[in-house]
Amino acid sequence: MNPSVTRQAAADLYDAHVMKNYARAALTLVRGRGTRVWDDTGREYLDFTSGIAVNALGHCHPRWVAAVQHQAAELVHTSNLFRNDLQAELARRIVGYAGPGRVFFCNSGAEANEALIKLARLHGVRKAGGEEGRIYEVICARSAFHGRTFGGMSATPQEKIQKGFRPLTPGFVFADLNDLESFRAAINERTAAIFVETIQGEGGVNPCTAEFLIGLRALCNEHKLLLLLDEVQCGIGRTGAFFAFEHAGVRPDAIGMAKALGGGFPIGAIWTGEQAADLFQPGSHGTTFGGTPLACAAALAVLDVLEQEGLVEHVRQSSVAWHAALRALAVEFPNHVRGLRGQGFMVGLQLSLDPAPVIAAAREAGLLVVGAGGNVIRLLPPLNTSVADLDQSVVLLRQALAATR
Ligand SMILES: *Cc1c(COP(=O)(O)O)cnc(C)c1O
Repeated sequence: MNPSVTRQAAADLYDAHVMKNYARAALTLVRGRGTRVWDDTGREYLDFTSGIAVNALGHCHPRWVAAVQHQAAELVHTSNLFRNDLQAELARRIVGYAGPGRVFFCNSGAEANEALIKLARLHGVRKAGGEEGRIYEVICARSAFHGRTFGGMSATPQEKIQKGFRPLTPGFVFADLNDLESFRAAINERTAAIFVETIQGEGGVNPCTAEFLIGLRALCNEHKLLLLLDEVQCGIGRTGAFFAFEHAGVRPDAIGMAKALGGGFPIGAIWTGEQAADLFQPGSHGTTFGGTPLACAAALAVLDVLEQEGLVEHVRQSSVAWHAALRALAVEFPNHVRGLRGQGFMVGLQLSLDPAPVIAAAREAGLLVVGAGGNVIRLLPPLNTSVADLDQSVVLLRQALAATR
């Protein structure tokens, strides 16, 4: 059959049966290798979406593929009725990065954040001497994004996300990112925790400043609140440190992570410091799939490659020249580009116009990028992206900007 007819039939099938909850590009991807993906017509793209900060090692890294293939033939899933050695090893490695404490495994970012929110409630109950419903408020940032579950959504004060789903989970209070006084003013006798993304992703790549994070740590210490950091997008090496909060030299009480942790295999986790590690007790929280041997093998492969290929260092070093080249686009296209935000391989090019046509033009030029709030184009290359591919992304973005002039 004519291949374009077959492709159209497949697209029609998709449109007829898959729910319409995403505004997606008319592009069908069929194969990936490193920083490259190919569509169903054989066209090649430089993929700087990383599947939204997931594919830390790019597509189909041979060490990751081998680890997943091996584990798939050994033991895939057992539930959490039993111990599993791979969970133990992965938890040990996460503790090595985050500090003394414990790890709980789940399957996604929203689920990790859900666990953090439940942890805040338990901390509040402990702080209230066992009384429920007295200390339960969590202070979050305006323009935050914490996921689509009821807890995560309620912590995400965006009309487009909350519309149609009220009443929301009570107990979320909002303050302005990087405005310590606004967070201080939101604290009252009901407050249990402060919960922010170290670098907001969906909201437009807005980093917490170091002074702000240090200030939040001090506020939490002073008022005996948990400092919860959502590192679902910015964690696992993306900013040139394993966790983005390391740049500020603070340590939170708990961290939510997911996306890049499994390098494309779904896995999420929370780490909690020792003082919060005993809040979850048998029966208080759980998930059937959390930390399967297969998911943990994928995550361990990610960490092995990250360490053995020195990727965190690579991100830190190679991002300097890349950022400079991206910033130069603001000089070249003063009517389009307002500036650059972010850190390492998590950056947002802020435009002075709707980014959608530029994103489409970039796709035409052969570069895949992601949008974000506040007219931002998000660039999230795999952590092992070469300097040549970083340079190429700037060439293709320039083409896209010129085409939408
Ligand atoms: C993606 C994301 C989430 C939600 O993760 P899912 O795996 O999609 O549930 C939560 N927080 C942040 C910061 C994210 O970027």
